[in-house]
Amino acid sequence: MRQALVVGNWKMHGSRASVDDLLSDLVQGSRIPGTEVVVCPAYVHLAQVQAACISASISVGAQDCSHLQSGAFTGEVAPLMLSDLGCRWVILGHSERRQYHDESDEIVAAKLSAALDAGLQPIVCVGETREQREAGSAEIVVGAQLQGALTGQTNLETLVVAYEPVWAIGTGLTATPKQAQEMHAFIRTCLQQIAGVDASATRVLYGGSVKVNNAAQLFAQPDIDGALVGGAALIAEDFLTIINAASAP
Ligand code: PEP
Repeated sequence: MRQALVVGNWKMHGSRASVDDLLSDLVQGSRIPGTEVVVCPAYVHLAQVQAACISASISVGAQDCSHLQSGAFTGEVAPLMLSDLGCRWVILGHSERRQYHDESDEIVAAKLSAALDAGLQPIVCVGETREQREAGSAEIVVGAQLQGALTGQTNLETLVVAYEPVWAIGTGLTATPKQAQEMHAFIRTCLQQIAGVDASATRVLYGGSVKVNNAAQLFAQPDIDGALVGGAALIAEDFLTIINAASAP
């Protein structure tokens, strides 16, 4: 039985004051049995969020990390720095990293390996562009991303995969529950084949304009174990409604 997981990706949003406001609403409302909740603020807010969540049922994650452990790499943040802070999770290979920072599958693989070594729980993002879906190559693209990130990796027991079609992120377009379910089932097959992980125990999240009005239908699919949520994670009431939808039997 896979526990539902809802992850908020706050991206490059917020100030110390707005983060405090958001957290006070979330901490009060997020004691929801059955669903694990993670929030991923910007690096500069991690310590603040970590302190506020210490006695709450919310875990903290980063949105990225370096593939290196330490050294003269200005601007980088090492995975061990994150675990040292009490951060438990890290998002890797988000499409915005791939698109704006030229992150290749090789870099995602190196980050994954470094994150696992530091004891972080990785959320590896995969997903196709609109052109790739229209060309009928969505599965080829997602399969190749998984192959690139996971081949040769060990200790993948804590791995979480997020299927995030690029055309659905921040656009208001969402994959239909059927489209998402088909891809999640495919991802599970790949996980078994590529990495030899127990795919029936690995959580696969959907991400891409998950909102209050579509979350329940997505979570009703057998291979969707929760969501990676961007925009709606910045509105406490909406994020809590999405968490509740994931907890529904
Ligand atoms: C994301 O950034 O991972 C995401 C899914 O964003 P949004 O929910 O805003 O589409």
